[in-house]
Amino acid sequence: MTKITNPFEIYKVLPQTNCGECTLPNCLAFAAAVIKGQKNLVDCPYVSHKDKEILANRIAIREDFSRARGEDLDLLKSRVRDIDFSTRAALLGAKLVAGKLAVKSLGKDFFIDINGNVTSECHTHVWMTVPLLSYVVQSNGADITGRWVPFRELKDGSAMNPLFVQRAEKPLKKMIDRNRQLLGDLISMFSGQRADNNLFASDIALSLYPLPKVPILICYWNREGDMDSDLNIFFDSSAATHLQISSLFSLGVGLVMMFEKIARKHS
Ligand code: SF4
Repeated sequence: MTKITNPFEIYKVLPQTNCGECTLPNCLAFAAAVIKGQKNLVDCPYVSHKDKEILANRIAIREDFSRARGEDLDLLKSRVRDIDFSTRAALLGAKLVAGKLAVKSLGKDFFIDINGNVTSECHTHVWMTVPLLSYVVQSNGADITGRWVPFRELKDGSAMNPLFVQRAEKPLKKMIDRNRQLLGDLISMFSGQRADNNLFASDIALSLYPLPKVPILICYWNREGDMDSDLNIFFDSSAATHLQISSLFSLGVGLVMMFEKIARKHS
């Protein structure tokens, strides 16, 4: 399938009304931003569902994922300043420690100050800090439902799902195909829990908590005869009430990028 690298290919499916609802001055600027990875097709409310699904897998993003996330980071930091940590902590499943909000991610505390700066005993990276600050700013505090759903079933998830499969699920499946022990390592490194292996009839299932109220479930199915192995990443059905789909995407892809680094170090 030919990848789209020319913004005019995107522009053709836009209504070309330059309404500005995507926060950009016109549709051409939006098309260019999509190619650069700074905007997603779901950010234009007028692209048809069918076009979103067809195009999502064909867009060759030119710019670095981290750069687009970096721009989001500045905006989020400015919004953290308006938040009352003391009333927000319990709602988010976080704690207040010396005036900072302590949010657990993968078993480790991340501390957020009133200027939105994030510190931790671990290395912090923009793929993690953007969903973390988005969680602090946007989450409605809903409790975990215990019902696991695939990315495509989350609000606005279907349009981004082909990219999620390509950037998160397929690379993680390949890693586990090569090294089955990796899942066990992830459990011990990131305070994960082995889930019931019969869940979705999977052979291996584990849950991780990248954010206190946003758990993920990784299910892996072994190769069987002619059937290739398979892997899916599930989210709690409440996930989209805590984070927008772009942040859930960033969280899933970022986790897999981190696992790749760990797998390379251990090989
Ligand atoms: S929201 Fe859609 S129609 Fe409006 S300017 Fe942006 S791309 Fe064009």
